[in-house]
Amino acid sequence: MGEFELIDRFFKRRTPASGAVALGIGDDCALLRPAPGMQIAISTDMLVEGRHFLPDVDPEHLGHKALAVNLSDLAAMGAEPLGCTLALALPPERARDAGWLTALARGLFALADAHACPLIGGDTTAGPLNLCLTVFGQVPAGQALRRDGAQAGDHIWVSGTLGHARLALGALRGEWTLPPAVLAAARQRLERPTPRLALGRALRGIAHSAIDVSDGLLGDLGHILKASGTGASIDAAAASRLLAAGAALDAETLRTAALAGGDDYELVFTAPPAARAAVLRAGHASATPVSRIGTITAGTGLRLLGADGQPLRQTYASFDHFARS
Ligand SMILES: [Mg+2]
Repeated sequence: MGEFELIDRFFKRRTPASGAVALGIGDDCALLRPAPGMQIAISTDMLVEGRHFLPDVDPEHLGHKALAVNLSDLAAMGAEPLGCTLALALPPERARDAGWLTALARGLFALADAHACPLIGGDTTAGPLNLCLTVFGQVPAGQALRRDGAQAGDHIWVSGTLGHARLALGALRGEWTLPPAVLAAARQRLERPTPRLALGRALRGIAHSAIDVSDGLLGDLGHILKASGTGASIDAAAASRLLAAGAALDAETLRTAALAGGDDYELVFTAPPAARAAVLRAGHASATPVSRIGTITAGTGLRLLGADGQPLRQTYASFDHFARS
């Protein structure tokens, strides 16, 4: 199958007649028409076989995840999707596998449809399996949730739950075992993450700063602290409670998964104490649980506090995907 035939057969769909896409797949460029007063938000993420996903991954989950991790970046900026492009390198055995490509496209398009994020262009080539998605979004000028806006005294919040993707990965790698029902739920978080787009939009004008958790809570929060020139104190017990494991694993393993496990795709954000009610309303309006886990502090450094309020001695390195596999 040639390059054009492959795109036509699996990835070319009629561009919606209206909306922000003025011209979709089929010309040298797609054309986007952002609404007046909007800034364009752009993010790109590459998923490489063996590093970001296992060779036997379900292709439908892979299509979902490749787009989900990019949409998560739009969510972290408070942006709404306009469209996406896909650059796909395929080894010959995958390029010949119509069932695999159909499932990949199904996973991708289901999530794209759910968030009105049409595929507006892309490229394919022969090579080691590699998916590179780029998303384009829009956000009202000046209202993007950036990493550099945290202020001393801000409360630190996290959406949803933490650590389940790491629990699933550990089980798949044989680091530990999980009861079947727990593993199934955790795998869902690993393989089909939920981009928190509605929450990100609801936090415009409320949150001072935000980032999504791709590499682990503490590491990603560290990016906010560095960009904002602030420190933080984190209630380790409050963060660990966001991992409802349902498995007989030791407390330290669970705490590591919650604080440093990657691939959660939740939002970490900061907001002034006076915005507490507004944050809770934003969570409610977007049907997304939000939990406070700490406070931004003056100066630098991240202090992890135990249940007794005393600093913990352990340090937690951010999880570097499959680097240790
Ligand atoms: Mg991100």
